[in-house]
Amino acid sequence: MKALVKTHAEKGLTLQDVPEPKAGSREVVIKVEKTGVCGTDLHIYNWDEWAQKAVKVPNIIGHEFVGRIVEIGNDVVDFSLGDLVSGEGHLVCGHCRNCMAGRRHLCRETRGVGVNHPGCFAEYITLPVTNLWEHHGDVDLEVASIFDPFGNAVHTAFQFPCVCEDVLVTGAGPIGIMGAAVVKHAGARHVVITDVNPKRLELARRLGIEHAFDVRETSLADVQKELGMEEGFDVGLEMSGNPQAFQDMIANMSHGGKISMLGIPSGPMNIDWNQVIFSMLTIKGVYGREMYESWYQMSSLLRAGLDIKPVITHRMDYKDFEKAFEVMNAGDCGKVVLDWNT
Ligand code: NAD
Ligand code: ZN
Repeated sequence: MKALVKTHAEKGLTLQDVPEPKAGSREVVIKVEKTGVCGTDLHIYNWDEWAQKAVKVPNIIGHEFVGRIVEIGNDVVDFSLGDLVSGEGHLVCGHCRNCMAGRRHLCRETRGVGVNHPGCFAEYITLPVTNLWEHHGDVDLEVASIFDPFGNAVHTAFQFPCVCEDVLVTGAGPIGIMGAAVVKHAGARHVVITDVNPKRLELARRLGIEHAFDVRETSLADVQKELGMEEGFDVGLEMSGNPQAFQDMIANMSHGGKISMLGIPSGPMNIDWNQVIFSMLTIKGVYGREMYESWYQMSSLLRAGLDIKPVITHRMDYKDFEKAFEVMNAGDCGKVVLDWNT
């Protein structure tokens, strides 16, 4: 089969023929239909510092996908041939304290599909049944292919109650935009999103987030004035990884405000702890998705009318992967989806 393989410890990826995988016990083989390209894939493609530490070569990369089950291993009872599925990108150990308690998203021994386990940028992928999410028949295939980052957005958005609250989302990347759309759909009052990239702010507006501001031009204090807010934001979703964005967020929260942090800073960052203490803020780190509560919530949100499809701005044949990474590196895109059915 064809697969995009990180063959060498250097920039780039190789499209090559590799053996088709087989289903082991409690595993299935999935024919991949569409895949999303994630920032993680871009790190691996560019071979930055993080990738050099995290990835072992050779490995097939990619973890955002939708596909159909084409082979079933021994002892698989819950899935059938032809089922439309996506996969949770974290393989958990099953025996640490958190796994044993059913809190699999808190496993300390997780392995990443497409990072240190064969990924989905291939015609076929094998996964354990414990990592499958079966889609409803009416799901849009492209939307199904980005359930993984949609799940990051949902997991971050629902860390704290947002109904009737004023929510600040810093970073209008695909995940920030989806997070903003989720809290808006769920009943937040004002939803403000910030970025420093006008194209991404425009994309946010296309998804219905009208309060989209370039922080180089408009301060969060001005935004609050414009919206008639007097006491600061109740909930913050940090989706940029940018230290300045996080510092501005802390300075603009209401007393007792709650922040969920998904954005990954490139290194240690300073924050003004006096602001955290005297504003009595709660800050919670967020990683991945909740297995499988986030997946349930995603399916439910879509069926309740949330439309995240406009966040997908580019569609390409998998053979054009170089172009996909070029678009991602330029940063003016939303989600880029590769088609594996060509
Ligand atoms: P992205 O890089 O596409 O988007 C980040 C956005 O932040 C960009 O549009 C950038 O222009 C913007 N930004 C930069 N400086 C800013 C500032 N000062 N104020 C406001 N915005 C600013 O990333 P994404 O794919 O949407 O993911 C969002 C973040 O979440 C990234 O940091 C990513 O690494 C992280 N992430 C974390 C997890 C996790 O499990 N914790 C999973 C996926 C992604
Ligand atoms: Zn575990």
